Amino acid sequence: MSSPRVIASFLRRIRAALSGGTDLLAPRASTCLLCGKQRRRGGIDTKLPDPLRHNLCGVCLSAIPWIDRICCRKCGRGIHCGDCVRQPHASFVCNRSAVHYNKEMRGLLAQYKYRGNEQLAPVIASMLLPAYERLTADLFNRLGASMKSVHRKPAFWHAVTYVPISPERAWERGFNQAEQLASYVSRHSGVPLMNLLQRSRHTGKQSFKSRVERIRNTRQLFEVIPIEMDSLCQIWSEKFPEGDSDRSQAVLSPLRVLLIDDIYTTGSTAEECAKALLAKMPKNLEIYVLTWARS
Ligand SMILES: [Zn+2]
Ligand SMILES: [Zn+2]
Repeated sequence: MSSPRVIASFLRRIRAALSGGTDLLAPRASTCLLCGKQRRRGGIDTKLPDPLRHNLCGVCLSAIPWIDRICCRKCGRGIHCGDCVRQPHASFVCNRSAVHYNKEMRGLLAQYKYRGNEQLAPVIASMLLPAYERLTADLFNRLGASMKSVHRKPAFWHAVTYVPISPERAWERGFNQAEQLASYVSRHSGVPLMNLLQRSRHTGKQSFKSRVERIRNTRQLFEVIPIEMDSLCQIWSEKFPEGDSDRSQAVLSPLRVLLIDDIYTTGSTAEECAKALLAKMPKNLEIYVLTWARS
């Protein structure tokens, strides 16, 4: 590992440790963090996560384009999906996104990611929680009967991980948005956060590239961090120690990793991350993707 990677990894760990209570420390904004207008108390859906209720006004909250209805069960799109019809194979099981990537959401992400407004991190991250809970409930219902005999609750997810950025980008931006989102989901779900992947090279910004360029640009872009992968295998071994009566059945049951990113566009980033993880994982591994927005 080169020294910028060692430094980036060290800084990531410090930040993850310090970020443990950021959403608790974040003040309730008197004005809406999106439109800047005065927020009125009351009349806000109490089922929404706190960072949303405490920082956005009712108008902005009601304009969030949640993906409530899924048309494509593979990529989680809310509309008919030609992409998955053309390319049905994916190395990950499925993607689910919280919101449609419309003009307002693009503006919100730009404030956070490109203008460095980290106050928005818990607001954006908390938007992932309803999608996370829906995905977990769906899978649990589908697999529940067979899982109950093998897994002890709450063992559905074994790790949360995220799409890494290059040390150059980390230096320029100061944070990895996908890591901040994953850290939030990990804290709220109790699923361990693991830093399983790193970039094998630095690339230009994806947002300015065409579909074909994006796919070409992401090929073999990610590699597994061996020591983190060993820790993931260790999690499995601790759950099913030698001599455990469930171990022989559990050998057949997969380790489930939730990969988190901000945007799902062509799916090429998720695909390359999943391929890198599958290539290095000695056990049966299933990768699910959770993204903030589906573009
Ligand atoms: Zn507002
Ligand atoms: Zn699709």
